[in-house]
Amino acid sequence: MLAPQITEDWSSDWWDQAACRDGRGGLTKVFFSEELQDIAQAKAICARCPVIEPCLAGAIARRERWGVWGGQLFLNGKVLTDKRRRGRPPKNSRAEDQLPEVPIPITLKERIVFRTAS
Ligand code: SF4
Repeated sequence: MLAPQITEDWSSDWWDQAACRDGRGGLTKVFFSEELQDIAQAKAICARCPVIEPCLAGAIARRERWGVWGGQLFLNGKVLTDKRRRGRPPKNSRAEDQLPEVPIPITLKERIVFRTAS
């Protein structure tokens, strides 16, 4: 992924520890995908990332327009609480369409604006 701009008062070297940082940007398409399986993969990577808190704080401060940041799926500065597969919805819900829930650090919960998928 591209290194995010930091607007919070966090140490700027946290990006060195980012689980999504592979030095080649190879995961960028996973973190900025419309596909549920990619979004689920990105969230799973975030869930084991040691710098999830400063990453999410920065995304909130920047009102990220798009992508998975800090374990959350952003759209126009808000965190989507759900995401539907493209096309006609299936008659029966599929387990693979459930995105993993990544806990939000308690220090950031009140700063997030949530929205449901439209
Ligand atoms: S929390 Fe996710 S998006 Fe943020 S640095 Fe870690 S792996 Fe990357």
